[in-house]
Amino acid sequence: MSNVPAVPPERLPALLAAMPKAELHIHVEGSLEPELIFQLARRNGVRLPYASVEELRRAYAFSNLQSFLDIYYAGASVLLREQDFYDMAWAYLQRAQADNVLRAEIFFDPQTHTARGVPMETVIHGLHRACQDAKQLGVDAELILCFLRHLSEEEAFDTLEQALPLRDRFIGVGLDSSELGHPPEKFARVFAKCRQQGLHLVAHAGEEGPPAYVWSALDVLKVERIDHGVQSAQDPALMKRLADEHIPLTVCPLSNLKLRVFPKLEQHNLRELLDAGLVATVNSDDPAYFGGYVNANFLETFAATGLDAQHAYRLARNSFEGSFADASAKKKYLERLDAAFAAA
Ligand SMILES: [Zn+2]
Repeated sequence: MSNVPAVPPERLPALLAAMPKAELHIHVEGSLEPELIFQLARRNGVRLPYASVEELRRAYAFSNLQSFLDIYYAGASVLLREQDFYDMAWAYLQRAQADNVLRAEIFFDPQTHTARGVPMETVIHGLHRACQDAKQLGVDAELILCFLRHLSEEEAFDTLEQALPLRDRFIGVGLDSSELGHPPEKFARVFAKCRQQGLHLVAHAGEEGPPAYVWSALDVLKVERIDHGVQSAQDPALMKRLADEHIPLTVCPLSNLKLRVFPKLEQHNLRELLDAGLVATVNSDDPAYFGGYVNANFLETFAATGLDAQHAYRLARNSFEGSFADASAKKKYLERLDAAFAAA
């Protein structure tokens, strides 16, 4: 669509909510809501260090990365059986459908589970079955296996080896967890092997880490997308490269706010990234923990930064173009996007 209609500000929130979109940066373990954690704990006889849903909900008001990780791992401890993984993914997919997500490329952290003795097959089978069933919801869902970067290269290789028999159940690999002190280079050989397998490659870079990590994610890991990448704005040469090569950035504004990458949402640099011609997108990261699903990210960011309908269209378009969907699926998504804007 070359002429995006001007939309009066009061109608923008409804358009943001209704417009079709893809979500490219969502950690399924980060979508576990307190109610589901308690339900799974009861089902599996797991004792939680929280007395009630309310107490756990209050603990979600964490103040730093470590307190977030404490809750994150306590939450994950209830995931033991294939059905648990299914239920977690299904709960997310229903939220995605409600936010008019047509395509979701979902990260999962197998090492969080295999380290607790849960077999790789249990994790992948449960998540994959939910992704298949998501067709009933009108959501195309795919999985991306993430390596935890604070663990060793050897552990990443072990994880890959366990997952490769299920190679057809996930479309790519990523790199997540604590960025600082764990540069992309640490996983160069693992990513080279994944590339030989024909897997798509993405990595978290430039969230808290420096632009140098974005350069090495591109040059050493040879990733196709950068997750977060907001620190790229410090480096004009990097910004030019990201724009010239149409490298998508999966930006997560409410996560950035909660983890204090930007002190206020008003100061978020999403507009700067778009103005520089980058393929920036809006995503929820760990929505149960960071204050909302993808539509909440759109609504709050637009309200805080004054972005308009042109930006909304660009962001939704970027999400489809930056996805790993095939060309015919992308064409269908973009037709639905154009129809939504034509009716706005
Ligand atoms: Zn993330």
